[in-house]
Amino acid sequence: MNPKKKDIRSLTKEQLRNFFVENGDKAFRGNQVFEWLWSKSLHDFDAMTNISIETREILKENFVINHIEVDSMQRSKDGTIKNGIRLHDGFIVESVLIPTEKRTTACVSSQVGCSLDCRFCATSRLKRMRNLNPDEIYDQVVAIDKQSKLYHNRKLSNIVFMGMGEPLMNYNNVIKSIDKITSPEGLGMSSKRITLSTSGIPKIIKKMADDQVKFNLAVSLHSAIDSIRTSIMPFNETFPLKDLGDSLVYWFEKTQRVVTYEYIVWDGINDKKEDIKALINFCKLIPCKVNLIEYNPIDDGEFQQATSRAIDNYISNLEMHDIVVNVRRSRGKDIDAACGQLANKS
Ligand code: SAH
Repeated sequence: MNPKKKDIRSLTKEQLRNFFVENGDKAFRGNQVFEWLWSKSLHDFDAMTNISIETREILKENFVINHIEVDSMQRSKDGTIKNGIRLHDGFIVESVLIPTEKRTTACVSSQVGCSLDCRFCATSRLKRMRNLNPDEIYDQVVAIDKQSKLYHNRKLSNIVFMGMGEPLMNYNNVIKSIDKITSPEGLGMSSKRITLSTSGIPKIIKKMADDQVKFNLAVSLHSAIDSIRTSIMPFNETFPLKDLGDSLVYWFEKTQRVVTYEYIVWDGINDKKEDIKALINFCKLIPCKVNLIEYNPIDDGEFQQATSRAIDNYISNLEMHDIVVNVRRSRGKDIDAACGQLANKS
């Protein structure tokens, strides 16, 4: 591959139109190629049938279409599919298709590895190698939409940024990918069906509020007590709960949108009365709901899911304070495709 050739999907529509004008063609040609690249998700210039052969040659001389490849695929007995996705430079990330009765959700990665070091998450064992480009995130969605149609006879309905990486550490590319996913010139999906999950980077949460983003926000909270949160999510030292809380208040003031807190209850870590009390206080900051997530063990046994009694305790106390709480069962555990289990094992 000629390293000087540019990835054509890094160009905006305007830049693509200009390229054609500069090459003595019509700007409209740019629209046609843009459509092939995005809404039709084509990865081959030669398949652009309404573009002349000469023009395709010019494109090939100047550009490449970097794209992902589904490298491996594992299917769980519950219908979940885990994909090992090969990027153009050989790195592998994982994306998961999660079917439920009514919908199909794509769980996509935003980085190769992760720079955060959440002790309970398998991805944290992988060094962060690089951010994904917008097209690499977009391609994961397209690949899972295809699998959804093929194996479940329906289109992809929802997207969660809960795969590998911290999406807010790759904010610009994540936003660009969502723009394309929601644009009628891309996949035309509704932003209401997209959820971005973050460990909570206060400055970027405020920026998202300023940017008036339209997708849903989920925050991986896991503890509302600083010392405990820092012990399981060390970056909490840099972004303590006070700052996180302030940014969420700002988020709500600007967007009026409810935030979901993801929360795992572990044996001996956050299963006490004080833990529940602190969570209830944190929940008073803004309208929110709590998803109690089932813990997916990641080998070494340091963390154990709390007893059902401890979890019931959380539920009854939260409900007593009128806080909406859901219990989220894991999917695809038999193939290590569940939350926090993505670590390129295969
Ligand atoms: N970095 C982002 C998104 C990736 S993690 C974030 O932190 O939100 C997606 C979700 O999986 C988060 O809520 C995370 O806390 C949770 N998670 C991580 N490891 C887990 C595990 N072993 N079992 C269950 N959930 C886990």
